[in-house]
Amino acid sequence: MVARAQFVLSVRPVRIGRGLVTSAAIPKGAVVTVLAGRQRSAAGVLRLWRTDPRRAANCIRSGRDTYLDSGEHFGAFSNHSCRPNAMVTRERGALFLRALRRIPAGAEITHDYATCLGADDVWTMRCDCRERGCRGRVERFDRLPAAVLRRYLAAGAIPRFILGTLEAD
Ligand SMILES: [Zn+2]
Repeated sequence: MVARAQFVLSVRPVRIGRGLVTSAAIPKGAVVTVLAGRQRSAAGVLRLWRTDPRRAANCIRSGRDTYLDSGEHFGAFSNHSCRPNAMVTRERGALFLRALRRIPAGAEITHDYATCLGADDVWTMRCDCRERGCRGRVERFDRLPAAVLRRYLAAGAIPRFILGTLEAD
């Protein structure tokens, strides 16, 4: 599918810090935005942890050995939720945010960080998103509760290269 639709997004104060907010309703399945930034190797992200941990934590896995460093682009502001309304997809080598369900105007765009954490990713985060079913902790995708994993797989919300990290173990 060709990604065309782009919605009017802005970075605004949200419940915790800043987040990505849409000013228009976004239909289910539509591209919210392409995720821009700079590709870094896994080793490069490890180095970044020592100098700029906040920036390193915002890197989104983009391939088997690559991560997208969103810098100040939108990807850095899509917060985690245990009940997300968007998902990260890789299409023709680029990362996109797509609506997992219809997103109303004025809503914050969120995705589940676990869907971008491979079986070989060691990063974890405490979660206090307060959504129904909050897991309290964000970690590698293969530790998602079975029902959540099934739902994400059915929606195509876990990129292939993330699924592939299980075989690489
Ligand atoms: Zn949560």
